[in-house]
Amino acid sequence: MKLDAVTEKTGLIGHPVAHSKSPEMMNEAFRREGLPWVYFAFDVASEELGRAVAGLKSLGFRGWNVTIPHKVAVMEHLDEVEESAREIGAVNTVIHRNGRLIGTNTDGAGYLESLVRETGFDVKGRRVVILGAGGAARAVGYTLARAGAEQIGIVNRTEKKAQDLADHLRRWTRADGISPGEADTAIREADLLVQTTSVGMHPHPEGCPVDPASLHKDLLVSDLIYHPRQTRLLQEAKTRGARVHSGLGMLLHQGALAFERWTGRQAPVERMGEVLEQVLGES
Ligand code: NAP
Repeated sequence: MKLDAVTEKTGLIGHPVAHSKSPEMMNEAFRREGLPWVYFAFDVASEELGRAVAGLKSLGFRGWNVTIPHKVAVMEHLDEVEESAREIGAVNTVIHRNGRLIGTNTDGAGYLESLVRETGFDVKGRRVVILGAGGAARAVGYTLARAGAEQIGIVNRTEKKAQDLADHLRRWTRADGISPGEADTAIREADLLVQTTSVGMHPHPEGCPVDPASLHKDLLVSDLIYHPRQTRLLQEAKTRGARVHSGLGMLLHQGALAFERWTGRQAPVERMGEVLEQVLGES
């Protein structure tokens, strides 16, 4: 990759970021498209966030991704936040255009793109159960509600957060907070189960967030975790004849959508996916 005085700059801010696979994926996308662009990863402490955003703007970065723990806090440092990000309550992508910083959220759209492409699932009129009520659940819940899910049940360890998210989603669909004790019944009646907690993630792959006996052959089980690729939940689901969907596609498509917003060009999605497969295979 040639770096010179006219190289366009993008990147990621978060804390920590050392584990991120986005630099490999995005730099390969720029290279593949012959674009003189580069993507960095910056570990930014919370107390430095405002200064970091001002610095990226001053230095002419064309845009950047935002990850944990800055997805909410970054909003107060931007000139504009698009509707989807406002409704989700978090920004994962910033676009620097005409001297203005615009916040958007590609997590939900990236998730849906991956779900539809990989499984052909049509969410319209379907019953969904979401495990978790954090940032990822907010993005996925909002997107599925807007896409026409008939009913969304939210199950979360901290029940108040499940109720709050259900209250929010009720603007677009029928939504309920479900206590962990009632999760099995809701899952037995659901078409799609979306797992958005960190249970089952490396280095604790033995974790399974639900009783495997509640999984059934008419269910599509979607786990946002991509490390490992096949979580224990997905393995249990397969054993019971359910279809499965892993989190790698969401990582890929949220990045592809950011690429498209920054460059105005179609992202080389296939090649980006190959890079992710390769780097995650090594980790
Ligand atoms: P977050 O905002 O911190 O939310 C974490 C959620 O997990 C909360 O609902 C939390 O429940 C729950 N949780 C954590 N530990 C738990 C445990 N031991 N038992 C039960 N519930 C537990 O995090 P996030 O940003 O939503 O991310 C959540 C997961 O999604 C992570 O695994 C992340 O890697 C994955 N993710 C994947 C992608 C992708 O591109 N594939 C994108 C974003 C996120 P409480 O409310 O009770 O704390």
